[in-house]
Amino acid sequence: MAIRFYNTLTRSKEEFSPLEGNTVRIYSCGPTVYSYAHIGNMRTYIFMDSLRRVLKRGGYGLLHVMNITDVGHLTDDGDDGEDKLEVASREQKKTPWEIAEYYTGVFMRDVDALHISRPEIIAKATDNIGEMIEFVKELCDGGFGYEISDGIYYDISKFPEYGMLSRLKLDDQLSGARVEVNSEKRNPADFALWKKAPKEHIMQWPSPWGMGYPGWHIECSAMGLKYLGNRFDIHTGGVDHIPVHHENEIAQGWGCCGEIPAAFWLHGEFMLVDGGKMSKSLGNTYTIAQLAERGYSPLDFRYLCFNSHYRQKLNFTFEGMDGAKRSLANLRRAVSAHRGAGENFDRARLDELKAEFDESVFDDLNIPRALGAVWGMAKLDGKNDEIFRAIVDADTILALDLDKEPEEEAVNDAADPEADEINTLVAERAAAKKAKNYAEADRIRNELASRGIRLTDTPEGTTWKRE
Ligand code: AMP
Ligand code: ZN
Repeated sequence: MAIRFYNTLTRSKEEFSPLEGNTVRIYSCGPTVYSYAHIGNMRTYIFMDSLRRVLKRGGYGLLHVMNITDVGHLTDDGDDGEDKLEVASREQKKTPWEIAEYYTGVFMRDVDALHISRPEIIAKATDNIGEMIEFVKELCDGGFGYEISDGIYYDISKFPEYGMLSRLKLDDQLSGARVEVNSEKRNPADFALWKKAPKEHIMQWPSPWGMGYPGWHIECSAMGLKYLGNRFDIHTGGVDHIPVHHENEIAQGWGCCGEIPAAFWLHGEFMLVDGGKMSKSLGNTYTIAQLAERGYSPLDFRYLCFNSHYRQKLNFTFEGMDGAKRSLANLRRAVSAHRGAGENFDRARLDELKAEFDESVFDDLNIPRALGAVWGMAKLDGKNDEIFRAIVDADTILALDLDKEPEEEAVNDAADPEADEINTLVAERAAAKKAKNYAEADRIRNELASRGIRLTDTPEGTTWKRE
């Protein structure tokens, strides 16, 4: 069955086939590890995982690279501001390497807990500085890069196609962005390939231009080239990368190798919180660990993501989380009724639903529709193990542990000697939450946690149990 993806470059759904052989070469922009990844970031990696699983189902092999940005790039996408890793390092009194290692560890644990299958190659920027320097040298030799007093810059007047991905004119791109006033640059939108480091900058490496550190965009270009070659099949990232980061990667790839680095550019839409932007810098973010504290499992969150197509915005609310948690439990319950059963059922309808599942996932990763087909299978009249097996097969894409017995809800233990007091505290916490006094609600939760009592918020109310 043909696989089709929406290609941001052409603004259309195109039939996919690998450039060479049967192995699909993919590059995904990875996390910047100066703080915790939030659930919006994780949505983008869940989309990346769906892509991997669907390609495998289509019979392809994968060679997939994701970078870990452990060199602090600057505070915005341009070349301005303070290095985020160094800021975190100063605040937490740790070296940037320690900071990066810590947050990389947390990120990889979240990845595993969310059943995001790991790319074949996970490459740290700091392990590839030599490749980045070579790339910048290549650009300078070809006339695309030039040196000024604070670094090496890309001369975008040499690439008239600049803007081909975002379809924005340079003026429009510039009007939204903070652009460093630097009279030495040839064009206002020229971006840094390599920055010369002031002495106090902790992370710096020797280069033909003295001690310095790479620009963010060159990281991805150099690692893509090293592991996947001049031109590979698919590049992924969030939609925020379209206008600057990926535009710059295209410009760099063209300057170095005379090719657009990837054939397909796939972008995941943003997750919003209560209808507004969520970002580390706005401080309105949640992590997978924070969701767990509130009683939502990583797979509850994964289910939530599957309610929307990856190219649609997804508005995160706790009501939505409650719904996802409830639906996943209900689905597992419905699935488990089929396990080992032998009743009569409508086999033709099951075949239709199986076909609908495949059509959906191969049609630009339409996971919400595919999930609907799985619900259709689970709800078929007549319980039968064949239905169970069809759902387990679909779960190689969804990875929601649909073959797992639904979890027993935590039960309040009336025989517990402290039951009355705990119930009172739980009620006080519910009242505090209702009054939007979240600090008080969290205080009560923490007090109970310190006594070994775990709360689980469910749509029907809060339950508790002793760990
Ligand atoms: P960062 O660590 O900030 O470079 O982001 C890692 C990935 O998460 C990138 O692919 C971003 O495009 C993506 N991302 C950032 N914010 C959001 C969001 N609110 N919703 C979905 N993806 C996001
Ligand atoms: Zn990137």
